[in-house]
Amino acid sequence: MKKLKDEITLVYTKPLLELVATAYKIHSENFAADIEMCKLISVKTGGCPEDCGYCAQSIKYSTAVENNPLLPLEIVRSKIEEAKANGASRVCLGAGYRSPNQRVLDTVIEYVKLIKESGLEACATLGGLSEIQAQELKQAGLDYYNHNIDTSPEYYSEVITTRSFNDRLATIENVAKAGLKVCCGGIIGMGESRADRISFIAALLNMPALPDSIPVNCLVPVDGTPLASKANLDKIELIRLIATLRIYFPLTRIRLSAGRNKLSDAEQAFCFMAGANSIFCGEKLLTTPNISQSKDQLLFAKLGLNNASTSVE
Ligand code: SF4
Repeated sequence: MKKLKDEITLVYTKPLLELVATAYKIHSENFAADIEMCKLISVKTGGCPEDCGYCAQSIKYSTAVENNPLLPLEIVRSKIEEAKANGASRVCLGAGYRSPNQRVLDTVIEYVKLIKESGLEACATLGGLSEIQAQELKQAGLDYYNHNIDTSPEYYSEVITTRSFNDRLATIENVAKAGLKVCCGGIIGMGESRADRISFIAALLNMPALPDSIPVNCLVPVDGTPLASKANLDKIELIRLIATLRIYFPLTRIRLSAGRNKLSDAEQAFCFMAGANSIFCGEKLLTTPNISQSKDQLLFAKLGLNNASTSVE
């Protein structure tokens, strides 16, 4: 692991323009100038027993988030239709649980069927999964399962104490064994060091299954959460992280996720050049703000980027 981290460090710390140029060369050899559009739907919000220090949905913290039980099917159907009309190619169902019980799983399976009927890709993020649960979701048509490692193994306990790093890896292994594609990434700007960011990349490379999709989130400080005062993101570090991920994961979609609304157009353009090629669309993520569809369309037009779902054929 030390050898791998040393290798990654050499890449990560190259002069910035050299690093981004290398990443862009790899990126352009493997992808067109397009951006994948994903829509995140919070199908159940709040009331989560975990203690992720950045999250508004944890019962451990007093935040402004209102608890909502699982959404009725008809509401989810209309949100899926809206996502499709707005150009999304994937719908990700988010719900804050330690692990879903059978009732939850049965309901999510109905949501997944709706997504598949609409012709979109389906992803879910519901907490820890057993292999049998992962198989049930696979059989229902789920394409991806998201479970983030969040940060480096070394910094992890500063962020979460109720679920171990190894618990996360076990879920990722179960997901991969069931034949689901793995979506796994993390958050930067939580007070972690550069060494932690490098160790996070090494951990992704050492997972039981390599991720098919890597969400990169910038910490969105939420009042009432322990990490609210820790937000300290240096945007150049974000660009270095994305470029290094692109070099080590040449075929993986890298999603510029939470916190994108805090980036200028030029900062987003730099992230896309470094290798980010997926975003969440729509004005809200699970609980935090995002960029409006019209602003994204304007940015795509300014940058000469296409929506991946309409540029394939
Ligand atoms: S990030 Fe997910 S698991 Fe952690 S507290 Fe929030 S909803 Fe729960």
